[in-house]
Amino acid sequence: MTVPTEDQALENSARLLERAELELTNLPLMEVTPVAGNPRNGRPYRRLCTQQRALGLPCWICGHDIDPGLDARDPWSWTLDHAVPLSRGGSLLDPANARSAHRRCNSARGNRSTTATVERTSRRW
Ligand SMILES: [Zn+2]
Repeated sequence: MTVPTEDQALENSARLLERAELELTNLPLMEVTPVAGNPRNGRPYRRLCTQQRALGLPCWICGHDIDPGLDARDPWSWTLDHAVPLSRGGSLLDPANARSAHRRCNSARGNRSTTATVERTSRRW
């Protein structure tokens, strides 16, 4: 049974295709330009945000509390982050993948800069 059957070969290529599609659909979404069909604008996503925010958890990146009263544009305001980044196949809507984070911590982690920046500035607290 070492030679793959035709079915297995087909299944393998189907799986490869599936993975390529997954990577495409999981590309980071541009937050500045909401597109129709963007799941981040959907009700399930908003509900997840509300639920996660209501937990009142500290930032999972730097460990400091998050002031819920801050303006959404404030770098220290609350944002929904994902334990497994969406770009790596993490689920957008799975509560188990949801984390509370400061806006600045979230975006510092989101781009390619390391957590070293976050750790250094968080010492000021
Ligand atoms: Zn933080």
